[in-house]
This record gives sequence, C-alpha cells and structure tokens, in this order.
Amino acid sequence: MRIIVIGGVAAGAKAAAKARRIDASHEIIMYQDEAEMSYSACGMPYVISGVIENERSIIIRTPEEFAKQGIQVWTRHRVVAIDAAKQQLTVKNLNEDTVTSIGYDRLIIATGAAPIVPSVPGITLQGVLTLRSFSDLARFKTTLTELQPRHAVIIGAGYIGLELAETLHSLGIKTTLLEKSLRILPKFDPDMAQLVHDYLLENQVDILLGDGLAQLNGSDGKVSAVQTETGRIIPADLVVVAIGVKPNVNLAQAAGIQLGCTGAIAVDARMATSISGIYAAGDCCETLNRLTGQPTWLPLGDIANLQGRVAGENAAGGDALFPGVLGTAIFKTFKCAVAITGLSEKAAFDAGYNPVSVKMTANDCAGYYPGKQVLTLTLTANRNDGRLLGCQAVGSGKVDKIIDIAATALLGRLTCSELENADFAYAPPFSPVLSPIIVAASLLS
Ligand code: FAD
Repeated sequence: MRIIVIGGVAAGAKAAAKARRIDASHEIIMYQDEAEMSYSACGMPYVISGVIENERSIIIRTPEEFAKQGIQVWTRHRVVAIDAAKQQLTVKNLNEDTVTSIGYDRLIIATGAAPIVPSVPGITLQGVLTLRSFSDLARFKTTLTELQPRHAVIIGAGYIGLELAETLHSLGIKTTLLEKSLRILPKFDPDMAQLVHDYLLENQVDILLGDGLAQLNGSDGKVSAVQTETGRIIPADLVVVAIGVKPNVNLAQAAGIQLGCTGAIAVDARMATSISGIYAAGDCCETLNRLTGQPTWLPLGDIANLQGRVAGENAAGGDALFPGVLGTAIFKTFKCAVAITGLSEKAAFDAGYNPVSVKMTANDCAGYYPGKQVLTLTLTANRNDGRLLGCQAVGSGKVDKIIDIAATALLGRLTCSELENADFAYAPPFSPVLSPIIVAASLLS
C-alpha cells in the first residue's frame, strides 16, 4: 500500500513516522513545499533572540533520517491537486518547475496554516515580517542584521506577538504591541490578561489597544512607520505582523473534502476526512473541544503531533482515536509564564455551564525556601456539580505544573472536592505543603 503525506513539518512528519512503525511494508512518501521539513516553529523566537545559537538545532529530523526509516521525502515539491476519484495527486517540483502525477492508496493532508497578512498599503516594504516558516526565520534574521532596527511594532498581541516582544526587547529594540481588541489574550479572563498587560508595561513594552493597522509608511523601500486606523503614526523600522493564522485548506477544498464550521478541514475522531481513504491532521483541520462538545480550531504544535500520530496509524491500517482537546496552551514573555486549560469563566458560561471562579496568588514552593517564585491562578468550576471546568495561571512560578495538573483533572472530569484531596508531591523546594491548585479547589468545593 502507498501512503502519501502532504506537508512535512509537525503533523505530517509525525504521521509518516507513525505509519512506518505500524507497518514496515507500506510505501510512504512525503511531499513538502519548503526546503526544510520537520522543524519546530515553536523554537523560532528563541533562535532570533540567540537563546538557541544554531538555527539548525530546531530541525527535528532530516530527509536523510526519514529515508533511513524507509520514508521518501520530497522537499521543494508542492502538491497542486488531489483527484480523489482517481486517487491521484499532481505534484509540482519547485526546483525544476515540472509537474508529475502519482497515485495513492491512503492520503494524509498535513498542510498546516499560514499567517494572515492584511493587504494594506506598504505591506511589502522591507522590514515588514511574519514568522511561520523556516524561510521566514531566515528572513527575520537577515532583516535584523541588515536594518539594525531600533523601533519595532508588533501587530497583534496574541501569544506569538507576546513571545516576540520579549525577543525584540532582548535585542535592544524598543517594542510596541498594537492590538485591535480592547485587551490582550481574549481567551483569558480579563483580570488574568490584565496581569500580563501590566507585566509587559513594567518591562518597557508599549501596548496600544483598540486600534488596528491601516497602512505602513516607508522610505527608500524600507518601512518607517505604522499608521493606525485612528490615524496614529508610530515610527518603526521593523514591523512584525502576528495577527493570527488561517488553515491551508484550498487543496482539500478543491478536491471536494468537507470543511467544518471553523473553516478548517472537518475530521472524525479517526482523523478521517469526508472522503474515504483521506485523513487530515494538524493546523489544517479542526477538532472537538472536550468540554463544550463543539468543533474548535486550535493550531498548536502538540495537537498537530497528537493528531498526526492518529492519522498515521489509521492510514497504515490501525484504529486509533483522537478524542479532542481541552484547549491547553502555554507561552512565556520575559520571565512570566502564561497558561490556560479548559474554559475561562465567559467561555464556560457561553457553553451553558453555571461557572464560578476563584483567583489566588501563591508561592510555587515553600515560602521559606530560596528562589521561590509567585504565580496567580484562576480556577473555574461548574456551580451545579463542582466539576472543574478550567484553569488559568500567570507568573514567574511553576505555572506549567499547575496547568498540567488542571488539564489532567479536566480529563478525569474531577470535581473540586476530589481535586482538593489529591496527594501531590511535596517537599519544600518543589511546592508549598499544599499545592496552590489544591488550595484554590478547596475554596470552590
Ligand atoms: P505547519 O507547521 O504549517 O506545516 C505544514 C507544512 O506543509 C508547511 O511547511 C507548508 O508549507 C507545507 N505545505 C502546505 N501545503 C502544501 C502542499 N500543497 N504541498 C506540499 N507542502 C505543503 N505551538 C505550540 O503548541 N507551542 C508553542 O510554543 C508554539 N510556538 C510557536 C511559535 C511560532 C513562532 C510559530 C510560528 C508557531 C508556534 N506554534 C506553537 C504552533 C506550531 O508551530 C504549529 O501548530 C505546528 O507547526 C503545526 O504543524 P503542522 O504540521 O500542522 O503545520
């Protein structure tokens, strides 16, 4: 059987590797339109800041390593059409500008997502960047070297914008975040988002809310200022557009594959699309929110890997399921970690729950132990039955630990009174005698 994978970064690479592990006899081919494949986009901000010295270290596996596993990789090859009736692909060799056809038995679409780039005047000026692909990373680094920017504007205060605020600040570039919404981090409760907002201001990042990008001004072909919708002019010799991404679905859509209500490819729990024998995984497809039961689109690397694994297994003849997501995510800006799992109070309310929340600030280890750090967490539960619905945590402390405990509790559908009596690991360097999440749960039980 021949399995073809379209796209070879996170979901595609994982799918191909899993398919190979399930059955050594299948022919597996992966097409990737970029020159690089199987890299961690998540590591890019740290390559730019220099925390990661060698950009090649974010490449997880090379085509040669895949070849050793019996997976053929064709980089700089773009699949331009899927003929689902004939089970055939049209593939363009981007190096030689030639086109060939190839048949498949099973197909995995892992075409990912692409940055949203507004078509405003000046968008093509030098110094206007996005960050998504490996070539974006190269362009980012070259631009920093060539322009030696002093003032940056990041358009969009989502997690990539906030990560990059730290990156640019660490390079000595004065940074302004321009955000069209009235607050940053809309998935968080407003008071938790405000903590991050205040923290960024303390770290000399300017934030302009409720205003959008109107146009980019330039001189000598280089960007010189951002003009906002309300007429503000912000001088900038570097502009990063980070207003979000959209799923790459054109190929699938043209083949007659059904999209879901989020605009990404619709899949079932086996990652199967609406056309038999064709699977999808990663940022190009939607999934189910386990708490609301509704389709959701959450373009994140861990989800792409989890889904890729399931798609690969099923394409190779297995029967794996991906049950959906809780919406767990984390990032860091300066020394502040910001994380969420499950539903915010508003999202819980919108989903028909009767939410109640508690917020508290605590040390992340014994108060007398050197190096203790602080974190603030909000726990949200369903007032009717005490079931935990969500957790948000912000601070320099061990936020990741709190969020992963909460995510596990959500998976187990625990109530706050069940969580309150969990005997988590304790010794002074690791935790207060009662973990902050236990204390928060006790306040809700
Ligand atoms: P992609 O990474 O988009 O890969 C799809 C590949 O397929 C692309 O190379 C694309 O060019 C190629 N392709 C598309 N169409 C075709 C075609 N027709 N033929 C051939 N090839 C094609 N996620 C986290 O969970 N945590 C993080 O900390 C985090 N940080 C991030 C930081 C940055 C700066 C960025 C950009 C992303 C970050 N992410 C993070 C998101 C994560 O990188 C993505 O969710 C993940 O890369 C998705 O993987 P994917 O394989 O589905 O899609």
